[in-house]
Amino acid sequence: MSVTTESEAEIARFVDGIVAVLRRVLGNAASIALHEPCFRGREWDYVKDCIDTGWVSSVGQYVDRFERQLTEITGARHAVATGSGTGALHVCLELAGVGAGDEVVVPSLSFVATANAVSYAGAVPHFVDCDEVTLGVDPDALDRHLVDIVEMQGDTPVNRFTGRRLAAVVPVHMFGHPCRIDEIADVAARYGLALVEDAAESLGSTFRGRHTGRWGRLAALSFNGNKTVTTGGGGAVLTDDRDLARLAKHVTTQAKLPHRWEYRYDQIGYNYRLPNLNAALGCAQLEQLPRFVESKRRLAAAYAQAFAGVEGVRFVREPANACSNYWLCSLVLGEPHAAALGRLLERTNDEGMMTRPAWGLLSAQPMYQQAPRAPLPVSESIVRRLINIPSSPGLKL
Ligand SMILES: *Cc1c(COP(=O)(O)O)cnc(C)c1O
Repeated sequence: MSVTTESEAEIARFVDGIVAVLRRVLGNAASIALHEPCFRGREWDYVKDCIDTGWVSSVGQYVDRFERQLTEITGARHAVATGSGTGALHVCLELAGVGAGDEVVVPSLSFVATANAVSYAGAVPHFVDCDEVTLGVDPDALDRHLVDIVEMQGDTPVNRFTGRRLAAVVPVHMFGHPCRIDEIADVAARYGLALVEDAAESLGSTFRGRHTGRWGRLAALSFNGNKTVTTGGGGAVLTDDRDLARLAKHVTTQAKLPHRWEYRYDQIGYNYRLPNLNAALGCAQLEQLPRFVESKRRLAAAYAQAFAGVEGVRFVREPANACSNYWLCSLVLGEPHAAALGRLLERTNDEGMMTRPAWGLLSAQPMYQQAPRAPLPVSESIVRRLINIPSSPGLKL
């Protein structure tokens, strides 16, 4: 009995300490969002222009302009805007050759869209573990797992336990932190797996000086309301391959064949286009991306400094050779303090400082409980200990 009371008291003291540090960085505002958008540029001018000219939907200049800005920012040769990041990832997978009955390697620690996009393509997600530092796919664990499960049938990697073809690997740059993408690319190449990057969270993040999303043949971005840059809702496909870019545009616009008045289609397409109205918002937002990233990095530096001496908690820093946009800042509690996570979430949210735990592991969700997987010790440990803390670009502007 007294042991329980004592450890309850310890938890309370530990949580008090963290809350005090958060308050020191964030101030005493009554309500602080986890990540809210920041509209301090030409958003209103561009959106109003759409309404004034009547071009709000599928025709108008802002989609082209938005795509051009994306190629300039990322260095990708082509960008194709879409109505969501999930849709962009779905199209990336199909264009990478993923089809019905395939397996696609994805991290278990990710937002649900990563696995759902695999399902939309008719394939099955195969979950792998992350590493402690980047929180992204661990290339060493990936390699060890593939050695165990892959049987090459000619040039085709097959999962010897399920008999399904392993078609692709989809690393995620978690919370904006670049994963070990060069090593993951090496492993993928060795096994003949297509590399598709889920760069939904990492616009503005670079690894070895190169923008995330530039390692895979195809990559997906997201412009959802909670991402670093928003179009209200939206995404984009990045690729250097002109034919893939053309195909991406084609299948995201119902696969309609160009003609002045005829309606003909050459395959089943999707209504995945980004409306002009949303692109207009995005153009104004992209103009501010450098400011947003700078401000988020300033906030991250303040957190890092404030938590440097705090026992039992680690602020997640950008990995070596990487420059992170710090989309969502996070703390990882030391293993002995894992029991404090619930209380910390409760206290911060009660006080109006919005925090969230990591997403529930995808491998544990009802629709993916039967899906194949590698051992996931790091992911299972991280989800019990990670908390995302306020990260809005407006906080340090
Ligand atoms: C946000 C996100 C997506 C998809 O984004 P939507 O634009 O909301 O469809 C995909 N993957 C990850 C990892 C994300 O965080």
